[in-house]
Amino acid sequence: MGKLDGYKVDLKGMPSDTVSYRWQVSDDFFSAVQGPEIKQGLLDVALRVKQTSDAYKLEFRLKGEVKVTCDRCLEPMSQPIDALNTLKVVMGDDYADDGDVVTIPEREGIINVAWNIYEFAALEIPMRHVHEECEAAPATCLSGEGSDPRWAELRKLINSKS
Ligand SMILES: [Zn+2]
Repeated sequence: MGKLDGYKVDLKGMPSDTVSYRWQVSDDFFSAVQGPEIKQGLLDVALRVKQTSDAYKLEFRLKGEVKVTCDRCLEPMSQPIDALNTLKVVMGDDYADDGDVVTIPEREGIINVAWNIYEFAALEIPMRHVHEECEAAPATCLSGEGSDPRWAELRKLINSKS
């Protein structure tokens, strides 16, 4: 059994039109998925699958935190995750993913949502991620400049030119 087989969702064999799943994903999950941004983390994932007349609506709730690299000091930092995402899945001949809708082969009727969980977590990471203390360091510097009268003069000069 593959490491990510536990994330297979059997849509064709749903016992009722709404089915819930729950996983706790941790470091093992992230090392198995091998995504570029997140290598470690601990997330509580709740998935609710709802079957409609023509599609399946998958609603993912992700809660917890992941480890990312601080842009400034390159040390690991925690990024809290609290996200709600939906995915629409339809049955077709071949596998396809156009961003909004995923088509899975009807003969299989199964979707493995491991990568979707990873992607939804990665989406929550801001473009710029910096430790609070790393962020604070230059800010203190700037306020120091503000109290120096020479800098105030310089600012006036710069502002008058713009
Ligand atoms: Zn840092």
